[in-house]
Amino acid sequence: MVIKEFSIHPLAVADPPLRSSYGRHAPYALRTLIRLDTTDGICGVAEAHGGEGSLAALHALRRLVLGMDPFALHDLWMRWGAEEAAGDRTQTWMVPGENPHDARRRAFAAVEAACLDIIGKAVGKPVCDLLGGRARGAAPFSAYLFYKHAGGGGEGADEREDEYGECLTPESMVRQCRRMIAQYGFRDIKLKGGVLDPEIEIETVRLLRAEFGPNYPLRIDPNCAWSVETSVRVGLALREELSGGGYLEDPCAGLDGMAEVRRRLLAAGADIPLASNVAVTGFEDILPAWRGHAVQIVLSDPHYWGGIRAVQRLGDLCRCLGMGLSMHSNNHLGLSLLIMAHTCCATPAMEFACDTHYPWQHSSDEILAGGRVQFENGAVRIPDRPGLGAEIDWDRVARLEERYRRLPYRRRDDAAEMRKHVDPAWQRILPRW
Ligand SMILES: [Mg+2]
Repeated sequence: MVIKEFSIHPLAVADPPLRSSYGRHAPYALRTLIRLDTTDGICGVAEAHGGEGSLAALHALRRLVLGMDPFALHDLWMRWGAEEAAGDRTQTWMVPGENPHDARRRAFAAVEAACLDIIGKAVGKPVCDLLGGRARGAAPFSAYLFYKHAGGGGEGADEREDEYGECLTPESMVRQCRRMIAQYGFRDIKLKGGVLDPEIEIETVRLLRAEFGPNYPLRIDPNCAWSVETSVRVGLALREELSGGGYLEDPCAGLDGMAEVRRRLLAAGADIPLASNVAVTGFEDILPAWRGHAVQIVLSDPHYWGGIRAVQRLGDLCRCLGMGLSMHSNNHLGLSLLIMAHTCCATPAMEFACDTHYPWQHSSDEILAGGRVQFENGAVRIPDRPGLGAEIDWDRVARLEERYRRLPYRRRDDAAEMRKHVDPAWQRILPRW
């Protein structure tokens, strides 16, 4: 069995105007669907980041994939040279999926997932069962809360209903959380911070704790918007709320700053773990993060860490070093959600609920035949089907692809959206507070 066809489908997915320290989300997020067809008539699929950078890497990889045995993943990795590229691989200044230094790993990860989908279909087993079996029966996810402007995503006649409404106050954030938990049953809460004055974000976290109680662990992620001083101040103010299964995620830029925040918090008696997907994005970052006590929880990602198996290896490494493992998320459709769920279930070290943007995508954008992936008590069960368990609605794919062709942009630029809609002079400043 060899791969005889490799098709690449760029997609545009309606996305609400969510805010972060990077700026504001555009009306459409960019994703990519890849499809591999084998000489045995088996088709494997995977979802990857979108835009021209991701597409260029996938097109470059295509010539190595055509004619390959889907079982020969190590051979592909060595021929492709997807080892970590030199340069600034952090996400301090670039949103996930836009950094050219991990583009090769991201392309490999997509092909790996599609090959595992093929192998699973060939042997009649779900992907997580090919990779050592299940460490847990379902993959738990967190309620991923965002400050946002009014709007449900999309533009003009293609605009989506705004399910959550504008949310720029602590009170409206509690309403957002209540609604999301009522619908999905999440048992962990993540707040995307770095948007409003830290005092308002502290108040938001306190209100969330008052509403949901200590059985819902809390995490806040300002994406480096704070100085060391502000990070320590927020950490101390929220020492109760961010303990007990919660964490403080990338409060400031760089491992040195994170290490200083950790030192000062510990000195003040606040043992709040620091998590990162900004300062730590690849294996080369692990030892510096560990040696400097800068990061206690690594946020994996089966897309930009180099695949599902890379996250399994990362989990083993984190266990050896006494670090925790959780999972980062970007805008994604149900196919990526399934890749994340298989990764979580096949990785014993994944002991935190994973993040997901899935509640922010509208059902009319889902490319899975049969509609959206369902959550039970905040968790996704592995489908009782071989491979990733995804059946694709190709008419939907064609519609999202057509929408991508009509879009005027080919990369994610949240700062440009801020200048367009909020403040014509807006610049990303680190630290902002
Ligand atoms: Mg993060």
